[in-house]
Amino acid sequence: MRILLVEDDALLGDGIRAGLKLADYAVDWVRDGEAARLALLDHAYQACLLDLGLPRRDGLSLLGDLRRQGHQLPVLILTARDTSADKIAGLDAGADDYLTKPFDLLELQARLRALIRRAGGAATPTLAHAGIVLDPASKRVTRDGQEVALSAREFTLLHDLLRHKSHIRSRSQIEESLYAWGEETGSNTVEVYIHNLRRKLGVNFIRTVRGLGYRLGDAD
Ligand code: CA
Repeated sequence: MRILLVEDDALLGDGIRAGLKLADYAVDWVRDGEAARLALLDHAYQACLLDLGLPRRDGLSLLGDLRRQGHQLPVLILTARDTSADKIAGLDAGADDYLTKPFDLLELQARLRALIRRAGGAATPTLAHAGIVLDPASKRVTRDGQEVALSAREFTLLHDLLRHKSHIRSRSQIEESLYAWGEETGSNTVEVYIHNLRRKLGVNFIRTVRGLGYRLGDAD
């Protein structure tokens, strides 16, 4: 899960990034509205955490432009502005949710999960396919009811495939969801994670589509 964090307050931004990293999100952090606009052009994110009062470009104007361009990215506004007028303006500009500072990191994580889930069109919190069930909140995965131990990256990769289960996911799409800026990506790490997941979830659970990427198959 790759998240764009737009926040100019160094202390707060650092805390949010650290908290989300612990929860296994890949977080790209920018500190002004223009840098956010450029990041959104270049990368596919699962959600954006957006401060409103920002240098160079205000959060509301950035959000308005995004929505006018038809961008569907889930956006959660982080606002110090505790007036209902600001919240209404944010929601009207196309925000999906908001949190008023200061907020609890666990609440932020719960709201992020809900946003990403709704964006994927799923009403239930768990994702399932061919006997495999993944619960994003508890980070548990079961195979035919038995718990399966996955590493953080294996979990993130499985989550990505389950969220796009009728699609082929290319290697670069998978890498985008696994890594934030500056994180080391080995040349064959995606293949290693896929190999591990097949070993744990069944060899046919993930199919290789030659030249295109991966998609979910059937459990055996
Ligand atoms: Ca600010």
